[in-house]
Amino acid sequence: MQLEFFGAAGEVTGSCHVLRVAGKTVLLDCGLIQGGRKDEARNADPFPFDAAAVDAVVLSHAHLDHCGRLPVLVKRGFRGPVIAHEASCELVAILLADAARLEERDAEYLTRKLGKKIKPLFTFEEGEQVLRQLRPARYRQKTEVVPGVSIRFCDAGHILGSCAVEVWVREGDLERKIVFSGDLGQYDTPILRDPEPIDRADVVLMESTYGNRRHRDRDKTIEEIGEIIARAGANKGNILIPAFAIGRSQEILYQLGKHFDEWGLERFRIYLDSPMAIEASKVYWDYDHLYDEEATNLRRENGGMPLLPNLKLSKTTEDSMAINRIRSGAIIIAGSGMCNGGRIVHHLKRGLDQTSTQVIIVGYQAQGSMGRRLVDGHESVRIHGMDVRVRAQIHTVGGLSAHGDQDDLARWYECMENRPPVFLVHGEDDSRIAFADYLANRNGARVTCPAPGDSLDLAKL
Ligand SMILES: [Zn+2]
Repeated sequence: MQLEFFGAAGEVTGSCHVLRVAGKTVLLDCGLIQGGRKDEARNADPFPFDAAAVDAVVLSHAHLDHCGRLPVLVKRGFRGPVIAHEASCELVAILLADAARLEERDAEYLTRKLGKKIKPLFTFEEGEQVLRQLRPARYRQKTEVVPGVSIRFCDAGHILGSCAVEVWVREGDLERKIVFSGDLGQYDTPILRDPEPIDRADVVLMESTYGNRRHRDRDKTIEEIGEIIARAGANKGNILIPAFAIGRSQEILYQLGKHFDEWGLERFRIYLDSPMAIEASKVYWDYDHLYDEEATNLRRENGGMPLLPNLKLSKTTEDSMAINRIRSGAIIIAGSGMCNGGRIVHHLKRGLDQTSTQVIIVGYQAQGSMGRRLVDGHESVRIHGMDVRVRAQIHTVGGLSAHGDQDDLARWYECMENRPPVFLVHGEDDSRIAFADYLANRNGARVTCPAPGDSLDLAKL
């Protein structure tokens, strides 16, 4: 009976942990390693276990750094079920299709450039195979994964369908309960419910992305977005919002809907210019039984109709190019979230040299991304081989993170009255070490920061 730490031990991507119980092997997540090219090359490395011998995977949520390596696992012989929340199943389908297309396109490009055949990490068909192995489950429903391992999903409040997972393992007379946090959201975020309390565990495996940080106040951030929109209306420019397709795009639309009158949004044309965000929004729309109280009421007040009468969904490339010709009065939400590619790049290419353009940066911008250069105030950026002067106003608004901060993480842990031992994963070392100290000082909790390859004997807990 043991738990082995592999991915996301000392980093924030590539979530993957291995549970070995009564001769069975179950993975908790199978995520993609993301970051620079060198990090991403590790996705093609052999797994530290036999993929064909894995009996099942339990998936916490649909982000690629938690599910994106599943096609590789399948390609290497995994044939078991992937248990995931029903909303995650739909989002995984959208994400893997998109990721496979990007992989195939990159491989084709490199093949041409290097003059030798480069294979994609996985193909569209390999992504499709994962979908056939998905087994949807709901919150609070106890499910046997393999003999000796049962799970129950609890709402993690991070994205739609995100779960913290209660895992019961049994070997002979010995029983243990592990709680895996997945990614935890902030309390009081729009649309989603708060992370659900879990009352006890024998051991907790917990994320620590922002274990050393306190987020900016969300209400202040929303207020700031309102002010930027008012200014843009007066300047008669466009507003560009780079946003991740799943989660952030829906939150922005929600805020625009909620503040429609207050922010005078009837003066604008609003575009969701991302086929992937459009598809993800439909899943959000279909799963209204997962909303929090405010979102449920807002939807009821509007008779179940979309909240933005002037929202246009831009699916095709032609739709997107048509938006590109609009010089003022448009709010354009497009990917990618860090401006590294996607349709937002075309809008930035046209809009950045206009003083009337407002760019609102709402998400995390990694070192090396174009979004980061904008945040850092570069006077020009290179787009499609051209230097583009930055005359637009760049606004960086914090406070919309999908991850809980130090207080949120501690609050979730402290629901467990027996204060179980904690293993911190899914965080850079400075963040998880700071959080380990914080938790230990507050609660006297035993906190460990495992290294990749470390294992925990569950019988000895
Ligand atoms: Zn996540």
